[in-house]
Amino acid sequence: MTHPAQPIASHFINGEYVEDAAGTPIPVIYAYTGEQIATVHAATPAIVDAALASAEAGQKIWAKMSGTERGRVLRRAADILRERNHDLSVLETYDTGKPLQETLVADATSGADALEYFGGLAGSLTGEHIPMGEDWVYTVREALGVCVGIGAWNYPTQIACWKGAPALACGNSMVFKPSETTPLCALKVAEILHEAGLPAGVYNVIQGMGEVGGALVTDPRVAKVSLTGSVPTGRKVYAAAAADMKHVTMELGGKSPMIVFDDADIDNAVGGAINGNFYSSGQVCSNGTRVFVQKGIKEKFLARLAERTGNAVLGDPMDEATSFGPMVTENQMNIVLGYVEKGKAEGARLICGGKRADRDGFFVEPTVFADVTDDMTIAREEIFGPVMSVLDFDTEEEVVARANDTEFGLSAGVFTKDFTRAHRVIGNLEAGSCFINSYNDAPVEAPFGGVKASGVGRENSKEAIKHFSQVKSVYVRMGDVEAAF
Ligand code: NAD
Repeated sequence: MTHPAQPIASHFINGEYVEDAAGTPIPVIYAYTGEQIATVHAATPAIVDAALASAEAGQKIWAKMSGTERGRVLRRAADILRERNHDLSVLETYDTGKPLQETLVADATSGADALEYFGGLAGSLTGEHIPMGEDWVYTVREALGVCVGIGAWNYPTQIACWKGAPALACGNSMVFKPSETTPLCALKVAEILHEAGLPAGVYNVIQGMGEVGGALVTDPRVAKVSLTGSVPTGRKVYAAAAADMKHVTMELGGKSPMIVFDDADIDNAVGGAINGNFYSSGQVCSNGTRVFVQKGIKEKFLARLAERTGNAVLGDPMDEATSFGPMVTENQMNIVLGYVEKGKAEGARLICGGKRADRDGFFVEPTVFADVTDDMTIAREEIFGPVMSVLDFDTEEEVVARANDTEFGLSAGVFTKDFTRAHRVIGNLEAGSCFINSYNDAPVEAPFGGVKASGVGRENSKEAIKHFSQVKSVYVRMGDVEAAF
């Protein structure tokens, strides 16, 4: 019998599901059971071409509609996502292995937030009137054209919406390529957008590995590429997009610092460290994986952290009591376990976890290392799993310098009761998305994105509008033209 997660077909182009079985089969494996629950096919060149052609035609129709009309479609789609939240959350859990306890509140719901927010903004995207005496200049905020979205595997519904909603609000069309690891959820987003009244071709989804992404990025019909992925992929995609001077948004990896001062509320800081390391089993780009704890509270912090980490409920992701799920794939589990072994070998002190859980599924126990030093591999490289490194520090000046000593710059957090210090420290940290006495909040109203190798551009908030539109300026002369001859 066909598993309920199996989509009708692999791709969604020009308003309908499309199959081309000549494409390489991509198995979809449920991370909890290891069972193959679905198969999709990578896009063939014919599918890539059909998706881009339909996006090009759809964009022309979509851009002619008023912003208010476009916004209405996005807001209707948001309502449908919310109505179907339970089923979409189950699908997200099948796609990623994340527990239903999380997916019910973090995935289709945050996708709906983005559609609602950008749907609300769509009618207000206007230009300026700039008086120049008798003459004037006016500006027009225009769509870019066909945009390509390429997703990572940790938040397949959210990424499809975070890219699609601002792109569509501005009058662009999109071809979205989900990660080959999690191909299911974006198809539902496309289906729901069209059910909400989107003209055919405005939001298309095609499957495939990096080479399909590469074919999209280099196609001359594409005006913009928005990638969520790792830094090495970001470098390749940014370089490929540069050939045609395409616009880019790069949402890449991180190794973010979370700094806990002696005066912090310990339970809040421990809560922040848990949210910033173990949510989605640590598969979150903005995670605060270098937890710097001031020496005076170090042992107290570690004891409370170990105690609370012991409360994680590993289990069936479909059971709402489960609060910690498996890694997305066996391969990702092995990568993470490799880092755990490196941490042990390089002399970090294991506080808890440190191995594959003794149960079915690709589970790595929530792991905390203490006495981590700046040069250890686990303190330098993005692990993308549930491995927290706790480092000690003495002074503010020292910790800021050490926190910034990384190629990454996605996020940063500080826990302290001294508000002057909190703002001063955040002001000195090289990161795009920061937190004071909190960690990993990502409301659609707030800009999200990184500095340094963690990326360029911003998602969410009004900032995203700037990255999915361009400004035309028009000088209007009311009098005669003066010329030298
Ligand atoms: P990845 O870089 O391996 O792949 C990302 C996407 O890029 C996939 O869809 C993949 O098929 C595609 N791709 C690969 N090579 C390509 C190429 N040459 N041209 C075009 N597309 C190509 O990343 P992943 O393993 O899927 O995801 C984990 C990474 O994503 C982590 O580094 C994580 O930090 C990052 N991430 C960042 C954010 C953010 O918003 N900053 C959010 C989630 C994940």
